[in-house]
Amino acid sequence: MISTGELENTAEKTLRETDAYRVPVPIQIVAQHLNLTLEALPLGKVSGVLVVNDDQGAIGYNSAHARVRQRFTISHEIAHFTLHAKRNGKPRLFIDEHVMYRGGKGASAQAAREEAEAHRLASALLMPKSLVEREIKNHDLDLDDDEAIHFLAKQFWVSPVAIANRLLRLRILLYQPDY
Ligand SMILES: [Zn+2]
Repeated sequence: MISTGELENTAEKTLRETDAYRVPVPIQIVAQHLNLTLEALPLGKVSGVLVVNDDQGAIGYNSAHARVRQRFTISHEIAHFTLHAKRNGKPRLFIDEHVMYRGGKGASAQAAREEAEAHRLASALLMPKSLVEREIKNHDLDLDDDEAIHFLAKQFWVSPVAIANRLLRLRILLYQPDY
């Protein structure tokens, strides 16, 4: 399992190298810079897919999902591309039903680990630690106030659940808010 520090660094480096280190993170620009095409597709129960061929790939995301969810899906597939695409040098295909899902019945240990890593990097890409801290400071936010969570979610263009989970992981927030 990739360490938290390594993961945060990868997110920050990826955003800076793709000219996307700002709020809200322009996740489509990150994809473009990494030679990933994007397409909204009628995917039914599937949130997103990633097809990788050498150093380029294609991401499909569910056209019926809300924009914040699509952004998380795109970020999740970018994370797979960044972390897992080059394994064995063979082309790979990822199909993600629920990007918040961390493996489960029938999933191999490797698949479960990859899902957990992709989920964590996806969160770090959309809500980089340094920018989250900066927004909280700049807007003098009191995170005990639910409105602050909703405000931050809007700033980063993610769901309130996503930003709350991120704040918990970064230990900026110590308790689950009620929303
Ligand atoms: Zn995945």
